[in-house]
Amino acid sequence: MGFNYGSALRVHNVRLIDGVSATVVDDAVLEADADGEITYAGPAARAPEARSDVRTIDGQGGTLLPGLFDCHTHLGVASDRSLVETALLTDPVLGVLQTTVRLSRTLESGITSARDLGGLPAGFRDAVASGLIAGPRLQTSVGVISHTGGHADGTLPSGRNLDLDYCELADDVTGVRTAARRMLRAGADLIKICTSGGISSAHDDPDDQDLLDEEIAAVVDEARRHRGRPVAAHAQGRAGILAAIRGGVRSVEHGYGIDDEGCDLIGERGAFLVPTLSTVFQALDPKKTTPWRYQKKLRWNERTKTNIAEAIARKVNIAVGTDAGITPHGENPFELWCLVELGMSPMDALRAATSNSARLLGLEDKLGTLRPGYAADLVLCTGDPLRDITVLSAPENIAMVVQQGVIRKLTLPDSGSSAAGRNSFHAGSRL
Ligand SMILES: [Zn+2]
Repeated sequence: MGFNYGSALRVHNVRLIDGVSATVVDDAVLEADADGEITYAGPAARAPEARSDVRTIDGQGGTLLPGLFDCHTHLGVASDRSLVETALLTDPVLGVLQTTVRLSRTLESGITSARDLGGLPAGFRDAVASGLIAGPRLQTSVGVISHTGGHADGTLPSGRNLDLDYCELADDVTGVRTAARRMLRAGADLIKICTSGGISSAHDDPDDQDLLDEEIAAVVDEARRHRGRPVAAHAQGRAGILAAIRGGVRSVEHGYGIDDEGCDLIGERGAFLVPTLSTVFQALDPKKTTPWRYQKKLRWNERTKTNIAEAIARKVNIAVGTDAGITPHGENPFELWCLVELGMSPMDALRAATSNSARLLGLEDKLGTLRPGYAADLVLCTGDPLRDITVLSAPENIAMVVQQGVIRKLTLPDSGSSAAGRNSFHAGSRL
């Protein structure tokens, strides 16, 4: 029962979108070998002959895509409770188990790779990589660096401190280097800094610059000299965005206040914008938040829509991220609808969430594309996301999720196995 390790996989009767080209193959076949590497992806008419010893899935006319990426998650942070409640009232063992559930829900929503930008210890990455738990392939920054009173300062308006162990405060060049080294010591794949204030932090504003120019440059240098690790910047307002790109970060997170200058600089430097629009389009309930936060959000939401729509029109280099933790976990592909809503074509949104996000994570040689030689990380959705991008938003429309040729979720009949219908990770034999 469970998974079909070490056997090849064939998916037929699907519409294929490869994550790179603009061409759709209407009647396609994909085959992967026993190592989970794609050996064929293209028209059924030219496909190798079907074999009885290959596990075969009839895609029932759905759409086969590369596994999707979320380049901005907080998988260690509950999305259904306040940060205060999570930090102070959650038993740490329960907290770990809740994180594992978030990881598997995220995977089942179609996210086969994720980059976590604060609050996810490196052990979760290693647990997924070793097959101990189910989840997206992970890169994690482990923590977040900002200055005292900045976006990552967990001091509450009461003066009490949440004492979040993943937040590092530093106030000079030596301090930020030390903070970056602590992150690397904790196993960070990249460094996350704050170059602007935030909507969710009480005492600063998105228009404030957080770390100073020389501090940003110092972190970028510290990350670079440790195996060329990248830096991601929480940068919401214009000042923080420009400082981040000029300082050499690889990705501008949020970028709500981006203008033409910021767009052009991203292009010149080969950087990425991760606009986390799910935060903007999620319903806003004044009863569930503090008045100052509600007001900030109202003030920024319309500006954000205008600015990001302009950035999309200028063809800025966009990767997909949701800020899940702030937004709900397990509904991550909703972000693609947000991008389309602000003017991106559905095909470009799919490319942003696959091959382009793979490029941001430095995995473009292995992931994000359905072509021979790439890893078989797959998502099969019912319907056609090019006609209606919302089909991806509902997890029940995600009929199959595959990582490296291993089926993680399957809600279609499986002609290669007598096991009926559903086949989720927890029904498998690996836990
Ligand atoms: Zn975030």
